[in-house]
Amino acid sequence: MNQDTMKIPQATAKRLPLYYRFIQNLHSSGKQRVSSKELSEAVKVDSATIRRDFSYFGALGKKGYGYNVNYLLSFFSKTLSQDEVTKVGLIGVGNLGTAFLHYNFLKNNNTKIEVAFDVNPEKVGMEFGEVPVFPLAQLEEKLLEGNIEVVILTVPAPVAQSITDRLVNANVKGILNFTPARLNVPASIRIHHIDLAVELQSLVYFLKNYSNDDTETSQEGL
Ligand code: ATP
Repeated sequence: MNQDTMKIPQATAKRLPLYYRFIQNLHSSGKQRVSSKELSEAVKVDSATIRRDFSYFGALGKKGYGYNVNYLLSFFSKTLSQDEVTKVGLIGVGNLGTAFLHYNFLKNNNTKIEVAFDVNPEKVGMEFGEVPVFPLAQLEEKLLEGNIEVVILTVPAPVAQSITDRLVNANVKGILNFTPARLNVPASIRIHHIDLAVELQSLVYFLKNYSNDDTETSQEGL
């Protein structure tokens, strides 16, 4: 993200990829303009929030006209650095890791898993979804060589911290942590934590204890 967008609230920042995806859909269906009400219905974020989010970026739309789709598309594309591909590394080619290697992130956003790492000799040297698997011993070397600053962690929880400690020396800036481990990192690294089991448990709890009307938003995470 560029300098201008550095100070927007984090909740707004988290919604940007969501807006971007929907605007891409609108653009491919040939739509020229969109109102905040239409956007709101599609992305399931209330229109006041959308207007406030967009207001951080200046005048993106006009009253009574709505938003120009082409303009929004190029604006969000630039803001989300979609003009460049972000290279990603993946550590732990198990069930979850393999699924990510086969999943084509490039289809929806400009991130691409370029290298993977594992300790299992049966996996090292193989390719999954055209991504080569290297031994963990080559972690720092390959990440630095490929200029890869973002990493997906899908290893067993007990080894997650020791691998994370090594990522500091590999100049990694961001970790998407799918392990249940809560990791300690220096301030130079940002971690986003996705614990699928906890998310599922939380969904089940909400289903049992709240009706949809009770919840502030039925689209959690937004
Ligand atoms: P998943 O949790 O993705 O369903 P799984 O049940 O297939 O995976 P796990 O035991 O969770 O297997 O391990 C995930 C992957 O991490 C495996 O491919 C395993 O070889 C690999 N792995 C285990 N220890 C390490 C390590 N220290 N460094 C890198 N990879 C590791």
